Amino acid sequence: MKKVWEENIRKVVPYTPGEQPCQPDMIKLNTNENPYPPSPRADEALKKINTDTMRLYPDPTAGDLVNAIAKVYGLREDQVFVGVGSDDVLAMSFLTFFNSKKPILFPDITYSFYDVWAELFQIPYERPELDENFCIRKEDYFRENGGVIFPNPNAPTGIALPLCEIEEIIQKNQDVVVILDEAYVDFGAESALPLIEKYENLLVVQTFSKSRSMAGMRIGFACGNPVLIKYLNDVKYSFNSYTMDRTAIAAGAAAVQDIEYFKETCQKIIKTREWVKEELRSLGFTCTDSKANFLFASHKDCPARELFSALREAHIYVRYFPGGRTGDYLRITIGTEQEMEKFLFFLREYLAKSGKRCI
Ligand code: PMP
Repeated sequence: MKKVWEENIRKVVPYTPGEQPCQPDMIKLNTNENPYPPSPRADEALKKINTDTMRLYPDPTAGDLVNAIAKVYGLREDQVFVGVGSDDVLAMSFLTFFNSKKPILFPDITYSFYDVWAELFQIPYERPELDENFCIRKEDYFRENGGVIFPNPNAPTGIALPLCEIEEIIQKNQDVVVILDEAYVDFGAESALPLIEKYENLLVVQTFSKSRSMAGMRIGFACGNPVLIKYLNDVKYSFNSYTMDRTAIAAGAAAVQDIEYFKETCQKIIKTREWVKEELRSLGFTCTDSKANFLFASHKDCPARELFSALREAHIYVRYFPGGRTGDYLRITIGTEQEMEKFLFFLREYLAKSGKRCI
């Protein structure tokens, strides 16, 4: 029986993060991390940190990091906001910008944190269905709403919307804030960042967790009109002034400036992704045309749940979202070439053994 004191407690169904197993022989393809190390400049920056400074609070504005991001993207500092991973930036953005009685809109199949934040902050929401090919239908976002958010490329499908369609969505939604979650944009989609000069209601959110190999450092950022950034900062300073610690500020500021290393790493992942996509297709899988650092794949004869468990037993971790249309698919992060070789080797053996592949 519920105690009286429990009645007024805020009850939420939390987001379930991907598993973080720790086995020496594992192949970890389940949380879209980057298999390559971060820029060596991050290492250098961390080595320079004097532990004595840990007595002192960090810079609440995370000025060095904001400045470095602004420089790299050709923006002014007042167009950049930083947070503890893009989850923190997105949560702050929900709290700041989605404050209408009208429902916000995001796709039915998308990053599963959006409905958790909407519930937590008691924001009404509607989730237009993706089409039969898992694509966002731009027309679904041409109706009255309290705000719009979607990832580009979308997760867990990896499908990207062309920039011209994104611009149409923004154009039709000039009375609300439109948030583009570009967590995976660096792996082959077109960023909407140039549009922030044109649309004052557009916020573009990115992260250091994927293309910059720094998921463990927790760095995310948002770019937009200075008015949007000011409102975001007002909410941030009403919640927690010192979000970014000294190590994240130093390592992030150094790493983001290593553009050459960043481009090289992204290219390696794109190349591996395209190769794995072809290999999977030859094994009888259907894959969406992912422009992210993961694939979304389904096998006509082998249920995704079964494959997920078999892979897990072999210490190969992928992500499975049971139920609905995602229940037929596995989301597979792109690892190193060697890791993907092992993954494909396992699949070939498994499908042949279970008689699900006749070659
Ligand atoms: N957006 C999307 C679409 C994601 O998949 C993720 C990763 N789970 C995030 C945002 C958050 O990433 P992070 O907090 O590590 O920046």
